[in-house]
Amino acid sequence: MNEPYVVKDSLTLSIKLKLSANYEQKALLLRTMDSYRDAMNYVSRYAFTQLDKRANKRKLNDLLYRELRIRYNLPSQLAQSAIRRVASTYQGEWTKIKQNAEHRKLGYTKKYYHGLEKAPEFKSRTTEIVYGRDYSFGKNQTASVNTLEGRVRVAYEGWTPHVERLRSGEWKIGTAKLWYDKRRKALYLIVPITREQSVDLNDMTQVQGVDVGMRYLAVVGTGEKPIFVKGSPIHHKKRHLQRLRKRLQEKGTRSAKRRLAALSRRERRLTSDVNHRLSRKIAQPQVLVGIEDLTHIRVKINTKRKDTEERRQAEQWAFADLHSKILYKSSLYGGYATRQDAHYTSQGCPRCEHTSKNNRPGKGLLFTCEACGYTLHADLVGGRNVRLRTLVARQGRTITGRVSTVPDVDSNDTGPDPVEESRNPLTLVRGS
Ligand SMILES: [Zn+2]
Repeated sequence: MNEPYVVKDSLTLSIKLKLSANYEQKALLLRTMDSYRDAMNYVSRYAFTQLDKRANKRKLNDLLYRELRIRYNLPSQLAQSAIRRVASTYQGEWTKIKQNAEHRKLGYTKKYYHGLEKAPEFKSRTTEIVYGRDYSFGKNQTASVNTLEGRVRVAYEGWTPHVERLRSGEWKIGTAKLWYDKRRKALYLIVPITREQSVDLNDMTQVQGVDVGMRYLAVVGTGEKPIFVKGSPIHHKKRHLQRLRKRLQEKGTRSAKRRLAALSRRERRLTSDVNHRLSRKIAQPQVLVGIEDLTHIRVKINTKRKDTEERRQAEQWAFADLHSKILYKSSLYGGYATRQDAHYTSQGCPRCEHTSKNNRPGKGLLFTCEACGYTLHADLVGGRNVRLRTLVARQGRTITGRVSTVPDVDSNDTGPDPVEESRNPLTLVRGS
């Protein structure tokens, strides 16, 4: 047996809890959130006009803390939180301004970054609350949240596995967001929970390589029979949504714009849902999964239509979303996923490593190595090469620990809770 190869893995899940507040509680929580937002805008304007756009946290605290407490009736922690968020917003803006100036000087860009030309304004009333100070959890699945008039205790509900994780005591609970969904008229608590774990990569009994693409959503090289996941059922739905989108874009009216926004949400939700199911299939106990590092690679899509750039971005988002889901789910379910160099994964010969565009004559369905004559289904080459690179990386001990975070469950996500179990299995074709 190989000696252990242990890497550290920090896993953060973002879980969404719906608060069942009664009429008075809801009104009180909303008033608190409004106060918090108004306080942030007050601090922001103050820093802009009185402090020459310098929003130093300590200075603002000295100058405004008492005033915020009285003027906005905020509890101590929330007053500090409002100041902290304004300070970090300013800091972020200054960083971007300096970076932009630098980039213009070096000629990387001609665009001027319009930051801090007026005081940053906070429109959302989403409130950041610190665990143990501004909120906590109590018996019978209740949360206690600090407001303008003391704590309120409300029942919450969430997706069962998430609630169990939250209550298990095995996860560290972080700073949450109190968020109001206007369309559903409901209050939510978005809570990040974190677990540190060590994984022995030599405990993984299987190594797989995942190649994402257009014809197949994914091809998984397993070392034995590859798995093809067909994209056609979802492509069909997506095309339907894209046609709708086009018609609305041509209309250009205000109601058309509103419907367009709803359409984008629907499209993302559809993609996200498919990705949830697909990644759940791939993330298995004791399976080491290699995925392509697409950070510096533009996803190629074949289309001659005008909306290419928009579609390309949508596809790129979909692939990135799938990848981050594979990363965190592998960790969650006792496997491990790692990114590997994606260059030439579709052109290299899995047998002799000869790499050339000519290995795929006429860009056809068949890969034929011009050096050794090895032939293979073209869609399988990528997955197999990623798998080989992952094996080599484990052998050479170049895989390092990482931080994985659940993507896309934030206050903007109004979609259903993550589907981690497969309800409608995707079309899986076992190839030979
Ligand atoms: Zn070859």
